[in-house]
Amino acid sequence: MSKVTAKGQCLKCGRTFERVAYRRKRSECDAFKEWGEEKKNLNVCSACYRKEGDAMAQERASIQNLPELNGTEKQVEWAKKIRNFFVVNITNLYGKQSSMYEQMLEILPYAVEASVWIEYRNKSATNILVSLQRERRKERRRNS
Ligand SMILES: [Zn+2]
Repeated sequence: MSKVTAKGQCLKCGRTFERVAYRRKRSECDAFKEWGEEKKNLNVCSACYRKEGDAMAQERASIQNLPELNGTEKQVEWAKKIRNFFVVNITNLYGKQSSMYEQMLEILPYAVEASVWIEYRNKSATNILVSLQRERRKERRRNS
């Protein structure tokens, strides 16, 4: 068993870090060092890697915490896919610090009709958000 240490630079935080690996042969150690250092494949430090993992887990959890939808079993199944796609799209497009993301979190608890999601399936995520808000405003007016 041979030990090899390769240096990398994190593209996210800029820190340089070391990665230790164990390989059976010296040549495999050299290959690892080359892969990491010359070919620059070591580009996310373990702290950033963990952080990214946490963020993704959090996002999945928040998607799972969405309210149940009304409709037939088939409608609900389809609508949930459209809704997940919408959440991921808004998050990727605008980021979590954006007002669009905030607005999405605000509207989601009210968007519980599967048929509405299905109706919106061909709209862009941004258009879905605008449409949901418009429907919500109409509903509030009706109820007041
Ligand atoms: Zn980092």
